[in-house]
Amino acid sequence: MHEASIATELINIAVQECAKNGYSKIESIKVSIGRATGIMTDALLFAFNVLKEGTVAEKANLIIEEIPVKIVCKDCGKNFESNENYLLFECPHCGSFSINLISGKELKITEMEVSNEN
Ligand SMILES: [Zn+2]
Repeated sequence: MHEASIATELINIAVQECAKNGYSKIESIKVSIGRATGIMTDALLFAFNVLKEGTVAEKANLIIEEIPVKIVCKDCGKNFESNENYLLFECPHCGSFSINLISGKELKITEMEVSNEN
């Protein structure tokens, strides 16, 4: 995963939203990140803090909410959860690798706090 390009993308979206709504400063950005995305949250935070310099988001905190992986097995139909960030999951009930992800692929801004203070 390329955390720097994800951070750039998040900042671009946030800066555009901020400008569109007539605000001058971003206080915080909250993102949901599914664990199956393989994104390293530490690396993302680091990249965000470097790349936000010189933008309206330069004082913004990045708040990361990690979404656990929820999976349904195509063979036995049972659901299970995983906190691993692998892309290959084995059903703990029947050992099948034939699975569907219900959640864990999320990558989106869920909340943004903006203001007009300098
Ligand atoms: Zn199964």
